[in-house]
Amino acid sequence: METLQIKNLHVVVEDEETHQQKEILKGVNLKMQTGEIHAIMGPNGTGKSTLSQTIMGHPNYHVTQGDILLDNQSILEMPVDERARKGLFLAMQYPAEIQGVTNAEFLRAAINARRPKDNQISVMEFLQELDEKLQLLDMKESMIERYLNEGFSGGEKKRNEILQLLIIKPHFAILDEIDSGLDIDALKVVSRGVNSMRSNNFGALIITHYQRLLKYIVPDTVHVMMDGRIVKNGGPELAQKLEAEGYAGLRDELGLKI
Ligand code: ADP
Ligand code: MG
Ligand code: MG
Repeated sequence: METLQIKNLHVVVEDEETHQQKEILKGVNLKMQTGEIHAIMGPNGTGKSTLSQTIMGHPNYHVTQGDILLDNQSILEMPVDERARKGLFLAMQYPAEIQGVTNAEFLRAAINARRPKDNQISVMEFLQELDEKLQLLDMKESMIERYLNEGFSGGEKKRNEILQLLIIKPHFAILDEIDSGLDIDALKVVSRGVNSMRSNNFGALIITHYQRLLKYIVPDTVHVMMDGRIVKNGGPELAQKLEAEGYAGLRDELGLKI
């Protein structure tokens, strides 16, 4: 069993125009282990994507206080690729397009990066696995020979992020608004993919605005984030309460300022 722990995390970003440092995360605490699915809900602009980018090690996000521990070891000094090798995975809210690298090449390289040099995946094994996952996600085979995310529709990008998840098999996946822009059928397919990963070796942190996704991927724990902090923790029923009462209702309940 592995753990991912976020301790009193404070993060600043530099504004591109004014070069002023702005504090976005103001003391986030969260602990999860493999075998669990956690959800973070919260209004726009509250720091959810900042948290996910910081866990993954994006260089624009600077940790000024606190720590991120993977299996009790700080990962703050590790570059992105090392965090990925340690088993962290981020499905981004806005996946990047990469010209000149096909989906298949990218996926094979990503698998092999996590395997020892003398045990790289064979082409046969890779294609077999890919075929299986494409079927699970109702994806066309032609998708894998296309350049990564180039010209993909919003829904195709999200499905492709889940394809990466299923192929790379991380210990912890952070799924940032994987449901945004998906119609109900695509939402079900994406949820089926994530649910197929459920095991004692896998944990997920699902970031979403809406309760909708959490009907299909039922979380063990729900955290609500506002203004750069986790302000409430609960079970799946917390998501339903938020849907009914809105974030404004919770602000009133907690006595937070708008
Ligand atoms: P959420 O994902 O909850 O909608 P974000 O983490 O994207 O929130 O953004 C939180 C705040 O941080 C916003 O005010 C946003 O403008 C700011 N922010 C995030 N990333 C950057 C960045 N790279 N440069 C400047 N400001 C940023
Ligand atoms: Mg947002
Ligand atoms: Mg976001």
